[in-house]
Amino acid sequence: MSQKDVLRPGHVGIRVMDLDEAVRHYTDHVGLIETARDREGRVYLKAWDEYDWFSLVLREADESGMDFMAFKVRDAEALARLEQALAEFGCRVERIPAGELAHCGERVRFDSPTGHHFELYAEKDFYGNEVGTTNPEAFVDTVGGMAANRFDHCLLYGTDLDGSLRLFREVLGFDLAEQVLDGETLVGAFLSCSNKAHDIAFIRHDEPGRLHHVSFLLDSWEEVLRAADIMSKYGISIDIGPTRHGITRGKTIYFFDPSGNRNEVFAGGSTWYPDHPTITWTADSLGKAIFYHDRVLNENFLAVVT
Ligand code: FE
Repeated sequence: MSQKDVLRPGHVGIRVMDLDEAVRHYTDHVGLIETARDREGRVYLKAWDEYDWFSLVLREADESGMDFMAFKVRDAEALARLEQALAEFGCRVERIPAGELAHCGERVRFDSPTGHHFELYAEKDFYGNEVGTTNPEAFVDTVGGMAANRFDHCLLYGTDLDGSLRLFREVLGFDLAEQVLDGETLVGAFLSCSNKAHDIAFIRHDEPGRLHHVSFLLDSWEEVLRAADIMSKYGISIDIGPTRHGITRGKTIYFFDPSGNRNEVFAGGSTWYPDHPTITWTADSLGKAIFYHDRVLNENFLAVVT
């Protein structure tokens, strides 16, 4: 599959333990915009440079973690085609009617071998970005905090990594841009459905269905440093950084939302083209692969997931 049915990450639904606190974190500090609330009390947010109505859905629950991550597909035909292919692959597949999430069309929900819930959808209401499409300004000063440009990707931890890799490559048409091997065993897979270094990534883990981080794009290394300043000023829990990843080459900082869900803001990263070879990192270079400057993994990176 070259011109892909799957366009890009579209939204992520996460559980938070205190909704008001979470909304403050994602609006005042990450710089997202609240765009809707629904009858179930879920809060919808988007980043300033996104056009569709939302990319983050917050739901109050007793435990943090990810409910689902969704990808936007080309059109209704692609959605139907992929729905069938997912069922043939052996996924449990469910159609969720339009409007179950506010401003979103029909979704096809499926489970992955790593134990995560994913969704595909073809339609979401157009909201518009903060600068418009005619002679747009190059930046915004109407949003606060880190002013994240967009929801970019998730890193997920789960059990059957080989199974999810097969699913994303063979059914959804993703490419394996980078991988981490421990001997013959695949321990990390960084997958792209676009020109980005990754749109979704998985790490092998002994529990299914875990969230490592939800990532948002910034413009530059300077903005990553500014994000770190904001974290210190407002007492946001920093996991690691600012630093750089060997994998994807992104400049990054990890931090936690008030419920303990890990966030990332990052800038830059390598470009993926479908004819590029997969880059391999070996287990003995894992420290450098994940944190290029420290060259060692911190215990948090491996152990703290929601
Ligand atoms: Fe990331």
